Amino acid sequence: MKTHPLNFFGFCPHCGSEQFAVKSAKSKKCSQCGFEYFINAAAAVAGFVFNERNELLLCRRAFEPAKGTWDLPGGFVDLGETAEQAVCRELMEELNIQPTAVNYLFSLPNEYLYSGFTVHTLDLFFKIQVEKMNKLICSDDVCELKFVPLNEVKPSEIGLLSIRKAVEIFLQQPK
Ligand SMILES: [Zn+2]
Repeated sequence: MKTHPLNFFGFCPHCGSEQFAVKSAKSKKCSQCGFEYFINAAAAVAGFVFNERNELLLCRRAFEPAKGTWDLPGGFVDLGETAEQAVCRELMEELNIQPTAVNYLFSLPNEYLYSGFTVHTLDLFFKIQVEKMNKLICSDDVCELKFVPLNEVKPSEIGLLSIRKAVEIFLQQPK
């Protein structure tokens, strides 16, 4: 039986009371101070990045989960940021990539276990065009990069199941 993420929150985060009870499938409410906490999906972004030869960028994961398998670049959306800004920031920070075109493709819900807590995310996928590739850098959590022609991309090489599913959807889309 899967645990609902709200079970992780035993006390009211505002006043610390134990009188913090399930109000709905999405919320818990404190009967001491009246604070109601809603749990929502966290927005995350990932990019299908193409070089000038129309090859797809894959990143090898340096850490668990799915250490050593291939992945798409991406990360969480910061507060106050658009998804487009988030994917550009992640690509710049992680890989030194400056996109020239950013186009939204589709979204998939996902679960991401972090410090014992299951974060429910909504992953937004973008097609990223890059005109002139800078010298790529590998960030801490990426140990290797490669560009692969689309007809040679193997979804089985992608370790995270949600990302693998996204790659399968992308490969099935008319080009
Ligand atoms: Zn309270």
